[in-house]
Amino acid sequence: MKLAKLGDGPEIFHTLQGEGPGVGMPAVFIRAATCNLHCVWCDSDHTWNFEGTPWPHNMDFLPNYAKHRRSEVIIEIDPAEVARRILAFDCPRVVITGGEPLLQQAAFQAMIQTIRNQRPATVIEVETNATHIPSPGFATAVDHFNVSPKLSNSGIDQTLRVQPTALAWFAASPKACFKFVVANPSDLTEIQHLRERFGIPAGRILLMPEGRTAADLDRTAPWLAGLCRDLGFRFCDRLHIRLWGERRGV
Ligand code: SF4
Repeated sequence: MKLAKLGDGPEIFHTLQGEGPGVGMPAVFIRAATCNLHCVWCDSDHTWNFEGTPWPHNMDFLPNYAKHRRSEVIIEIDPAEVARRILAFDCPRVVITGGEPLLQQAAFQAMIQTIRNQRPATVIEVETNATHIPSPGFATAVDHFNVSPKLSNSGIDQTLRVQPTALAWFAASPKACFKFVVANPSDLTEIQHLRERFGIPAGRILLMPEGRTAADLDRTAPWLAGLCRDLGFRFCDRLHIRLWGERRGV
C-alpha cells in the first residue's frame, strides 16, 4: 500500500481525533498517499501535489513552498507491517485518512483484518472525499465514515468532486456523517443543495471552519456556529489545529 512518508517511515502517529463525532478521542492516524482531487486549500498536499503535476495550490505564492518530490513523500509498505506498527500503540481507535483512502480499499481491508485478528474491538474510522463507493467488504470492516464532500471553494470542478452514486451511498449509510469545510456564508447554499439532492439528515451534518491556523478558525467559527444553531447542523471545530497548528505527526 502507498502511504505518506513521515521522516524515513510511513505517516502513522498516535494523537487525538481532531474532527468529527470522535473529536478528542485518542487514535492512531494512518495517512494514505495519493488523492483523486487536488483542493487548492488542502492541508495534506504532500499526498498528491507532486513535481510535474499542474495543480495549483493556495500556497504557491509563498517563496518557501514547492511541489513535492514523489520519492520523498510516498512509501510503499505491506499492510501486515502497517497493522503491526498500529498495534504497537495499543490504542483502541484507528483513523485512516489521506489523501483518499478509498483508492486503496483492498489493502486497507487487509490491514484492518490483521488488526482485528489481534484486537477485535478496535474502532476503525475512515476519512473520505466521497467520490468512490466502498466495496461491500470494506464497508463492513469500517465502523464509521467521516465523509467530506468538496464544495466549489476547493477549486475542483463539480464533475470531479460531486459523484452522485457515491454521495447517495453515503447518505443512505448510518455509518456515515458529513463534514463540510466552510469558508464563506455562501457555501451554505451548496451544502443545502447537496443535502436536499441526496437526502442527508441534518443530524448527520457537521460544519467546520476552513483554516490552517487558530487565527483562521477564529475568523470563521463565530458566524458558522450561529448558522449551525439556526439551521440544526452540528458545529465542529478543528481541535488538531488549535493544539498543534500545521505540525505533522502529532
Ligand atoms: S480531497 Fe482531501 S486529501 Fe484530497 S485534495 Fe481535497 S482536501 Fe486534500
